[in-house]
Amino acid sequence: MVDFCSSCGTIIIGKKGENVKCPGCGAEQKAKTTMAFSEKVEKKKELEIIDSDKSSEVHPTTPVECPKCGNMEAYYWTKQTRAGDEPETQFFKCTACRHQWREYR
Ligand SMILES: [Zn+2]
Ligand SMILES: [Zn+2]
Repeated sequence: MVDFCSSCGTIIIGKKGENVKCPGCGAEQKAKTTMAFSEKVEKKKELEIIDSDKSSEVHPTTPVECPKCGNMEAYYWTKQTRAGDEPETQFFKCTACRHQWREYR
């Protein structure tokens, strides 16, 4: 259950109908169902995924050699890390030893 503080916009996680305390401003309020994700929040989530170890398992794999163990398969995903005119960065993560590296294109 994900919710947003009505006063500061911080994400609040709680059960529907329960009183939850906002981690941002401390305001207490009832959690309610909402499917409306603001663009701002979506962007923040994406940024967190870049360096998140747990989320990379959902990425597709590609035949690329791991520089660490020589395994020939790695998860891959791309990310625009800086300004829009910068080239995107490709991330790889070895399916065998879980070594992670990136490539600038
Ligand atoms: Zn708040
Ligand atoms: Zn490896």
